Amino acid sequence: MTLPAATGFLAAVREGEGPLPLAPLATAGLRDDTREDLDGRTVFSGLVHTGDPDGARARGRNASLVLAGELYNQEALRSLLPSGAGPTNDAELVLALFEHYDLHAFRLLNGRFAVLVHAAGRVLLATDHAGSVPVYLSVAPGRVAAATEAKALRGVAAGRTLRAARPVRRLPGVHQVPAGTVLEIALGGGTCTAHRTWAPPLHRRILPEADAVDAVRRSLLRAVRARSGPTAPLVVLSGGIDSSSVAALAALEADGPIGTVSMGTDVADEFPQSRVVADHLGTVHREVTITTAELLRRLPHAVWAAESLDPDIIEYLLPLTALYLRLEGPGRRILTGYGADIPLGGMHREDRLPALDSALAHDMATYDGLNEMSPVLSGIGGHWSTHPYWDREVLDLLVAVESGLKRRYGQDKWVLRAAMADLLPAQTVTRPKLGVHEGSGTTSSFSRLLGDAGIEPSRVHQAKRLVVRELFDEVVVAGRHPDEVDTAQAVQSVTDRLRHRVGAGS
Ligand code: ATP
Ligand code: MG
Repeated sequence: MTLPAATGFLAAVREGEGPLPLAPLATAGLRDDTREDLDGRTVFSGLVHTGDPDGARARGRNASLVLAGELYNQEALRSLLPSGAGPTNDAELVLALFEHYDLHAFRLLNGRFAVLVHAAGRVLLATDHAGSVPVYLSVAPGRVAAATEAKALRGVAAGRTLRAARPVRRLPGVHQVPAGTVLEIALGGGTCTAHRTWAPPLHRRILPEADAVDAVRRSLLRAVRARSGPTAPLVVLSGGIDSSSVAALAALEADGPIGTVSMGTDVADEFPQSRVVADHLGTVHREVTITTAELLRRLPHAVWAAESLDPDIIEYLLPLTALYLRLEGPGRRILTGYGADIPLGGMHREDRLPALDSALAHDMATYDGLNEMSPVLSGIGGHWSTHPYWDREVLDLLVAVESGLKRRYGQDKWVLRAAMADLLPAQTVTRPKLGVHEGSGTTSSFSRLLGDAGIEPSRVHQAKRLVVRELFDEVVVAGRHPDEVDTAQAVQSVTDRLRHRVGAGS
């Protein structure tokens, strides 16, 4: 399948009859809603799907399940079940495993998914190891509502406070399921228990150079293959080592040429560096220029998709969100080089190994809830993005490799660079990192917008935070469509407020 059967869901289970007011999702696609009455309970599920909603639903003797996303270790999972006519899709596979292992089934999965299981008054809500498909819930005695976007729950009467999940700011009673967790909710009492299914490794593996390089190469190749689908995928390519490696491995696997696309703005781009890689690999390559004016117009869309209040995260996610919206045509399967720097300590140009390992441990302990990997970013354009470096096995390996193999011979991410040396031009293999928000000039554009509105440099960051909050209130809390929300107006209102504060203070 080019795209997963479903890319988002909203669902509710309640005792007795009654309304289940769920608001729409931002993820684009077809909608399929079902409502059933089961033993005095009402079960509603709505899918955003890509043509085969049955591929994302499964029904068993005592349980039913919906799945948004996909699995990457189906073969290994199937080997756990009796042979013969087995499950044909990911939803059925997870349900079959659930019937054998109960909630421990989620410890077995390597994938990019959110799952809801309803089993006789017991509701389970699971994320993949990385929480890469955000999923939210609201719980009250006798009622559970859940969705892959927080905004879908804004109309649900405020739920109780849960200790097992993370509260979503500005949406009272709405919580986010932590990464690598199954929440188990007893419908009647509304009690909620968290079961952790994955944690980043704390130990470090000692490997000879050649073995480490070989393990990284094989692991990443498997992750790229599992994500590539039946037709050549599209790689969002910056020409940096991370996305270039993904493109090289995808090209190695594909029958025909793969697609690559690079974005730039009127201020900055990485076009020459991407072109070198595209030429080397013989990809069907495209350069997309997005003006900074358009970029800033897309700020409400980035907030709508990412549902984050963090201005740094939104700024970082903005260029790719704008790019995904510009990719026309049918939904594409998109591979990114996202996240290699986290387990490899790439952004910490740091020669002291203890400092590198501390930074890494910190980053691995704090990624959850940022929504940087959310499929909604490409989903609003009708596409499906997936991130090979955050494959469960790749991540387990990259985190665990001892830090002397990450920082080596004066290079960062040495083990990855060495693993890719035969597939990429030498200049790409040695190229230092440039973040997408830097390479596209997004950071400077957003700062300039606020500067032009009269914000002093020392208050720019604070102003960005307020602008993002204002946009969040519009597109998530109030449920407005981002096309109807004006970035300039949000900037104006924040500027007025900050001026007023300065005025009041002086
Ligand atoms: P890389 O080494 O691939 O540049 P990075 O660590 O600099 O990675 P980020 O800035 O975090 O990556 O961006 C995450 C991913 O987004 C990249 O790996 C790449 O897939 C994609 N990306 C980044 N910049 C661009 C761009 N200018 N055009 C297209 N895709 C991009
Ligand atoms: Mg980069």
